[in-house]
Amino acid sequence: MPPDPDRQSRRVNVRTPEVMERVQAEVAKHYQSSIVEKVRARDGVLTIGNTTIRLARQFGFCYGVERAIDLAYASRRVFPDNRIFLIGEIIHNPEVNRQLEAMNIVSLPWKEMDGQYDDLTPEDVVIVPAFGAPISFMDKVESRGCRTVDTTCGDVMKVWKRVRGFARDGVTSIIHGKADHEETRATASRAAGDDGKGHYLIVLTLADVDYVCDYILNGGDSESFRARFNGAMSEGFNPDRDLVQVGVANQTTMLKSETEEIQRRIREVITRRDGHADNFLVFDTICGATQERQDALFELLKHTMNLLLVVGGYNSSNTTHLVEIGEKELPTFFIRSAECIVSLEEIVHYDLHRKEEISAYSAAFSTDEHVVVGITAGASCPSNLIEEAILKVFELRGIEASAVHAA
Ligand code: SF4
Repeated sequence: MPPDPDRQSRRVNVRTPEVMERVQAEVAKHYQSSIVEKVRARDGVLTIGNTTIRLARQFGFCYGVERAIDLAYASRRVFPDNRIFLIGEIIHNPEVNRQLEAMNIVSLPWKEMDGQYDDLTPEDVVIVPAFGAPISFMDKVESRGCRTVDTTCGDVMKVWKRVRGFARDGVTSIIHGKADHEETRATASRAAGDDGKGHYLIVLTLADVDYVCDYILNGGDSESFRARFNGAMSEGFNPDRDLVQVGVANQTTMLKSETEEIQRRIREVITRRDGHADNFLVFDTICGATQERQDALFELLKHTMNLLLVVGGYNSSNTTHLVEIGEKELPTFFIRSAECIVSLEEIVHYDLHRKEEISAYSAAFSTDEHVVVGITAGASCPSNLIEEAILKVFELRGIEASAVHAA
């Protein structure tokens, strides 16, 4: 949709000092944990009886998520009587999204716009999540005259700046990310450039990259190429024309080692094709928070542990990568809440390979010997959920909550 020059942007700033003071108290009440703070203060280790909990040095809420939640809470305070909508989910955590629903903040579809978008009025407030939203959604909300509270993380906007720059220079963006992830969809819409003529291709796996590299070097059947990347490329993408100059960017929450490997393979194939790497550009756009959580997990894995619990929403990209790192080293369970730790023998968790929640037997947990349980959590996981997991582990090991509080 071309920009409407008469459209008035109605972005509102809800972060006034009085509002934020009250909001931060409310957010702290909902999501903070005294036990997590206590364990952090002890270098991440809490031993009671024959059980030790080891927390990663960095885990849980990142600055972008904290800001997005603060702004959502502030929106309700500033507009107590207005209808407030949210494009999709504020972040990928069911607990947080439940709290927002309880504040009557209504989630709108994020994949396709439906009639609810046509029914928006200038009195409505629309919150844009931390992942951002595609340009077409922003245009629609603006055209309905709504007030918008934009919580898009600054790190996501840095990626947009890069891909917009690629489009301006006639460079195709190759985006390492998940084509059906909110952030990548938002980024892809910017990769089309301000005039909508730019091109992009989204790759997820190394197999995708090898396919693209083979095409860059040897050419191939463009129809088969388009069929393979259906839904993951710009409109009218032509691999014979649009893979000459490429710039790699990534969803902010990808696995760093994989993103680096993707960059390496594409650079190598372009250098082989052209005899130089001038037609290859790259900007590492993994955000600091994702990086810190991955690094902290690698540190944690240097310790001997019986099992690892990764707490977070199953659709959270950065959490998924923590699970991938952990499961290479020890029994690792991706749990959405403490409820998943059913007993010493059974943990319900999300199996990344089967892509479903399953019930797993964990012999590592039920021994009478001393057990060390590692715990980490993605950037969208609040501390209260981590506290519940800690308490559940101790409870199943015969240690009451009062002992944990008193420790
Ligand atoms: S994970 Fe990174 S990009 Fe996403 S909200 Fe947090 S800081 Fe921002």
